Amino acid sequence: MQAHDGMYIDGEWRRAAGQDRIEVVNPADETPIASVPAGTAEDVDSAVRAARAAFRGWAETPPAERAARIAALAERLTARREEIARTVTAELGAPHTFSGRVHTAMPISVAASYAQLLEGYEFTEKVGNSVVHHEPVGVVAAITPWNYPLHQIVAKVVPALAAGCAVVLKPAEDTPLVARLFAEAVHEAGFPAGVFNLVTGLGPVAGQALAEHAGVDLVSFTGSTAVGKLIAATAARSVKRVALELGGKSANVILPDADLARAVNIGVANVMANSGQTCSAWTRMLVDADRYEEAVELARAAVAKYVPGDPTDPDTRLGPLVSAAQRERVRGYIASGLAQGARLVAGGPEAPEGSERGYYVRPTVFADVTPQMTIAQEEIFGPVLSIMRYENEEHALEIANGTVYGLAGAVWSQDEAAAVAFARRMETGQVDINGGRFNPLAPFGGYKQSGVGRELGAHGLAEFLQTKSLQF
Ligand code: NAD
Repeated sequence: MQAHDGMYIDGEWRRAAGQDRIEVVNPADETPIASVPAGTAEDVDSAVRAARAAFRGWAETPPAERAARIAALAERLTARREEIARTVTAELGAPHTFSGRVHTAMPISVAASYAQLLEGYEFTEKVGNSVVHHEPVGVVAAITPWNYPLHQIVAKVVPALAAGCAVVLKPAEDTPLVARLFAEAVHEAGFPAGVFNLVTGLGPVAGQALAEHAGVDLVSFTGSTAVGKLIAATAARSVKRVALELGGKSANVILPDADLARAVNIGVANVMANSGQTCSAWTRMLVDADRYEEAVELARAAVAKYVPGDPTDPDTRLGPLVSAAQRERVRGYIASGLAQGARLVAGGPEAPEGSERGYYVRPTVFADVTPQMTIAQEEIFGPVLSIMRYENEEHALEIANGTVYGLAGAVWSQDEAAAVAFARRMETGQVDINGGRFNPLAPFGGYKQSGVGRELGAHGLAEFLQTKSLQF
């Protein structure tokens, strides 16, 4: 087990103020693999002070120079991609191929996109007799979850740095190791000291201290809706800006004329990816009554390809969940589906065969799920799909929009215009039409209780800017 000392503050690895530590556990076999310092309010204060001191100089650094540092960061992450992929597999349990293809390649492409975006970005505009300046917000607190550990960090930290802000990052306690690699890459890329700082620690201690700190101007949080509400309430006390990326319960709407096999296969793959620990996962599949049983059979066949296994094996498509707590939570939801009368098509609450160790859950499909059931309303964050029946398009829309969430979704139809018309009526921030590909430049974020603000691309950069107008 590797004991890491220090937190990255003011351009160096500094000893933590307290003695407490966080143990990092490999979820595939439950062995402790490393420990990191559990930061306190004192560490947070040092990091925020360093960020405040560095802010003005970085804000006044020409955008082309900021772009050069970000390009160097993308290059350093690229150089270390194998190490990053291995680390994500070790601390999160994601299958190694997925760690390389998604957990590593996606954040690298997002980081590189900001180096490019900065090149032509207009930080001033003319409005009549005024010149409007888009200025960096100041010191940003970035608080991130474990599910896409590097992507969540990059999606906040890089646009904040691009905007000219200084950042203090508090990553999730389950996955601090890839955050340390990120800090090393920032250091190697030659950013000025204090522009980026890392404090590892527990949410209610280090996270809370960061969200409360008077030296922070904006809190950018990704995580659960419950903690997001706490953060917003805390930030309100000093009128800090907040950006919140929260939970989801996204609908995969298969219209009656869609290519059913394709929609179901891609829909199942979408839910099983990352063991279902994806905020934007299409966890509710909506199928018309006439083709409902056919869809259930297709889903049963598709999910059989997801056999839980060792994430370091290149053939594994489904790894464990991140922690024992998440496994228990997901099993509890599966049990609630059974108790409330959903039909179990595959999986179930028992441990998968042969998994005496590791936080594994059976890939599970439920049919006959009705909108009132808990599994149709709450975010499960595990490999669990609910297939729901609709009678007509209006009914499908009512089900799709019938939760407190609104993060993502999908619509399938041979008639693209009809799919677009349906998507426009969905109360959600992103919709994939007929399996549209991920676009790192498209804004990502939630309607309703899925969040406030947008990440990625130009919208993600604007999140970290405030405007000043000068009249002439
Ligand atoms: P979480 O809310 O428990 O924790 C997220 C982060 O907040 C962690 O760093 C944690 O330490 C910190 N935190 C916890 N309590 C805090 C407090 N009182 N004050 C300050 N910080 C605190 O969420 P999680 O379990 O790590 O992640 C899973 C959740 O994240 C899911 O609900 C998922 O939908 C959501 N998520 C959303 C998006 C999105 O873009 N919308 C992306 C990924 C995950």
